[in-house]
Amino acid sequence: MAATQEQYDVIVVGAGLAGLKAARELKAAGKSFLLVEARDRVGGRSKPGEIAGQVVDFGGQWVGPQQNLLLDEAEEMGVKTYPQYLEGQSVLDLDGTVRRYRGDIPNLSFLSLIELMRVEKRWSRESAQLPEGAPWLAKKADQWDAQTLESWILAHVKTKHARTFARVVSRAVFCAEPSQLSYLYFLEYLKQGHGLECLTGVKNGAQQDKFIGGAWQIPSRMAERVESHLLLGAPVHYVVQTADGVTLVTEKGTYQAKRLIMAVPPALAGRIKYNQPLPTRRDGLTQRMPMGSVIKIHVAYERPFWREAGLSGMATSNVRAFNVVFDHTQAGNDMGILVGFIDSRHALELSSYSEEQRRAGVIADLVHYFGEDAQNPIAYAENDWTADEWSRGCYVGTMAPGTLTNYGEALRQPCGRIHWAGTETATQWMGYLDGALQSGIRAAKEVIEADG
Ligand SMILES: Cc1cc2nc3c(=O)[nH]c(=O)nc-3n(C[C@H](O)[C@H](O)[C@H](O)COP(=O)(O)OP(=O)(O)OC[C@H]3O[C@@H](n4cnc5c(N)ncnc54)[C@H](O)[C@@H]3O)c2cc1C
Repeated sequence: MAATQEQYDVIVVGAGLAGLKAARELKAAGKSFLLVEARDRVGGRSKPGEIAGQVVDFGGQWVGPQQNLLLDEAEEMGVKTYPQYLEGQSVLDLDGTVRRYRGDIPNLSFLSLIELMRVEKRWSRESAQLPEGAPWLAKKADQWDAQTLESWILAHVKTKHARTFARVVSRAVFCAEPSQLSYLYFLEYLKQGHGLECLTGVKNGAQQDKFIGGAWQIPSRMAERVESHLLLGAPVHYVVQTADGVTLVTEKGTYQAKRLIMAVPPALAGRIKYNQPLPTRRDGLTQRMPMGSVIKIHVAYERPFWREAGLSGMATSNVRAFNVVFDHTQAGNDMGILVGFIDSRHALELSSYSEEQRRAGVIADLVHYFGEDAQNPIAYAENDWTADEWSRGCYVGTMAPGTLTNYGEALRQPCGRIHWAGTETATQWMGYLDGALQSGIRAAKEVIEADG
């Protein structure tokens, strides 16, 4: 698509799920629009990959039964789900000692389990006090936003393993250390994700199902419906806003519209130049939502040997780098696949290693969890999101203390003709594919209502 003097009703920046959903809504409303994407593919943090001839998700993958927007979109796009395999025992590696357990309740000491139940109840009580979409208005918002999740854990959790478990949760859910997260932001995430059990669980939780053929097919098929409006390989560098409209300077040319939907994470929106400085709160927000750190890894074996040993393939560790692992064996295929993550501080460290070094470490971790059979995979595939120019980390932009209470109001507040989308702006399932869809619907509604 060549540069044009045509003025669109709307330009959407970012063809992740948020931007694609906004584009589909604009199309349905009869608006003229252009969807501009930096990469030469759509999907953003949802991305196809390959291991031993199997297509897999290098990005977002699971869906929970509460994520209705995503389930509906998948159905419309003809992408079906299947349950995450969870038969047999799972592995919990605590300080180097492997323990086995069934279901979602980890094998911890009785005292630690009792304390965890108490802590979880308190978290759900406190997160229920946050007004929807405005956690900074909660009565105790200032107090909660003045501390990190780690300082909260140190003050309120006494048993060693309950503390360890709370830290593991932080790394697995946010790809960030609890010392990097505001306690208020943590509570808000819990609220949006229907509580800790739902966020971390498989059955009835956010990891209950996967998509046959991969979640990446959803944005790919959504893009087919707006293909003629799509401009790929066109990073946006400069946004000029005037009283009448916006002009976008991209690597493929200059484009004009009455309004703009910026469907990129705040950390990336802050790297774009604006002719009118963004309002202080908005600019401050873009400086304060760093992305988490994660490397997603698949390892393939001739057969799913762990299943034969009565194991689910799920493993969690508080010390090993490859610290969250699931079975990802595909139906109708003899080959066994494990999928998992190196996250948070381990990802920061290992991102600078060679792939061979990471591979050796990952296999050593799998041998530790599942035994010698893990020693000889037939294939290994990884995606380092920390090194990705157009994501700058994943899964999501996080918040340290002081961010939500001082800058949270700017999350969805339009700046003149610029409207904000992206999973970070969601009020349900922030950080997830579902939240991205919600944000796209909301931002499209804003621009449609603004111009009638
Ligand atoms: C490894 C991993 C595992 C995950 N697992 C899950 C999961 O199991 N379930 C789940 O629900 N979610 C999961 N997520 C999160 C989920 O993928 C994201 O929440 C979702 O994809 C975000 O969509 P988005 O549209 O808001 O943002 P993005 O997908 O980041 O889209 C933003 C787009 O903007 C583009 N862009 C950025 N800057 C510019 C610019 N200057 N000019 C033009 N374009 C630009 C980017 O290239 C990108 O395509 C996971 C993410 C990762 C990385």
